[in-house]
Parts: sequence; C-alpha cells; structure tokens
Amino acid sequence: MVGRHLSIALVAATTAASAGAQRPPAGDRAAIEVLPVQKNVYMLAGAGGNITVQIGSEGVLLVDTALAASAVPVMAAIRQLSKGPIRLIINTHVHPDHVGGNAAFAAPPPDPLQPLDIIAHENVLGRLAKPVTGKETPPLIPGLPRSEYFTPTKDLHFNGEAIVLYHESNAHTDGDSVVLFRGSDVVSAGDIFTPGSYPFIDLDSGGSVQGEIAALNHILELTVPAHTQEGGTYVIPGHGRISDEADVVEYRDMVVIVRDRVQDLIDKRMTQEQIKASRPTRDYDGEYVTPGGFVSADRFVESIYNSLLRK
Ligand SMILES: [Zn+2]
Repeated sequence: MVGRHLSIALVAATTAASAGAQRPPAGDRAAIEVLPVQKNVYMLAGAGGNITVQIGSEGVLLVDTALAASAVPVMAAIRQLSKGPIRLIINTHVHPDHVGGNAAFAAPPPDPLQPLDIIAHENVLGRLAKPVTGKETPPLIPGLPRSEYFTPTKDLHFNGEAIVLYHESNAHTDGDSVVLFRGSDVVSAGDIFTPGSYPFIDLDSGGSVQGEIAALNHILELTVPAHTQEGGTYVIPGHGRISDEADVVEYRDMVVIVRDRVQDLIDKRMTQEQIKASRPTRDYDGEYVTPGGFVSADRFVESIYNSLLRK
C-alpha cells in the first residue's frame, strides 16, 4: 500500500473490517464501494467477494460476480464506471459469494454482436453443473461458465490489454484461477489471498495447504514491487483490502510458518485436538481473526492438519 493509493487502501481496509465484523445486508446499494486500483481496473467491495472490473472501449469485464442478492446494486456500481455492455465474466472459483451474480448478468437476452462469455476452469463448471449422461443434453442454466478451460493457463485480449488466467491446482479449491491484467499490472487472486483473514482451505472442494502455498508463491512470481511511491503490481484479494507484493509475502510467510508448526506437532504424534490446544497460530490471531469471521484459528489449523494427513 503506497503513495496515492493510500486513501483507496484505507477505504478498502475499512470495508474489509466492517465486512468481517458485521456484514452489511446484501443488496444494500450504499454498501457497494467502487475503488480505483490501477489504470483500467477497479474493485467493487461489499457485495460478498470482491469484484474486479476492467473497463474500456470493448465493454466491461468482471472477475467474479459476488452474491446473487447483490446483483442489482453491483450493476448500479458498474454503471458508475461504464455504460458499456458486460462482455466477459471470469470466475475465480465455485463459491456462491463469487459466482452468485452470474445468473443475473447472464439474464438479459444475448446481443449477437456483443455476446457475453463466462470463463472458468473446468473444475468450476464440474462442481456447478449437474452431471448428465451421454444421452442427455446439458440443461441451459443461466450464468454457468460457457468457456471452461482445462490447460494450465488461458490467455485473452480485451479492452486493449493482455489478460492471462492461471489455474492454481488444489489451493483454495481445485478450480482456482488467478487473473493477471498485464497492461494495468493488477492481479486478481480470488480467495487464495484474503488479507486480514486466514485462508479458507476448502478440502471438500479439492483445496490443500500445499496448493495454497504454491499458489501464493506463484502470485509472488507475477507481482513486481514498487521501488518508489508509485507503481508496482496491485493485488485484488477475494476478500479484504487492495494489496501489493509485500502484503502477499507476509501472508505467504504466515501460511508457511503455521503449516510447518502443525507438521512438527504431527511428527511429535500429537492429536488434532492437542495441536489446536497448543495454539500454533497464537502470534497471528490478532491480525487474521475477526470476531464472527469465517475462518477461526481452530478451523485454519484443522484444515492444515487434515490436508497434511491426506497427502
Ligand atoms: Zn471461496
């Protein structure tokens, strides 16, 4: 967080703090904040997960669509930035606070000249769509990703900038995409990175602590720090404040240290209950636990423990 972005960062931090403690009612227009990030890229906060908005002459690109209940105020917030058509939605992963608005954005009749495409890793579609047999035609569910990718990366070009999606295997889930806006120098990280909260490693959806750490390391490969008061890569987290490389380093180090502590205690043949009771996150709880927050210290330790035993 540096220079002219300080005020933006402060607004974002306030939003994150209030979202953690007492979430504003979904759909409350006043609760959606529009925060400039860098060049063509903005962040919307307060609708569930953070939404990345990239705007330009071709229209609007969104990374994630937050909660279904927030779709109307989110659209109003987007319209503060651009009157252009919504042309691309990228979903970072399957959770409803990130894909919930898809159906509302896909609902208007498609304009054949300016169609909407929805992109996600195939594991997101696999978890969202009901399985069909070979004889069935898959039902047309509004808002479901249409362009699923199954390669390690996918690139596209929109509004004059190169955009690269990276599949991060088995991190927060098994379908995570990190999105790099190469021209604007912004990375949209999804829930792999949630400053101010411990990561939710969703083992039931294919997440793992080793994949989480690998994904954070990969984000650090994509980011370049600023050596002056301006510039550098900005990172839009799944929840929480607009960040930079130093923030991701701090977060990665925290996950690695807690992972190592839990592994040491497993090696000493301690049970999960004994490990939790020894509070291996103690020195981090002040920064990463919010009252009523989604991932408590115990839940974070449990997810690491179960993930390490599975490998
Ligand atoms: Zn999530």
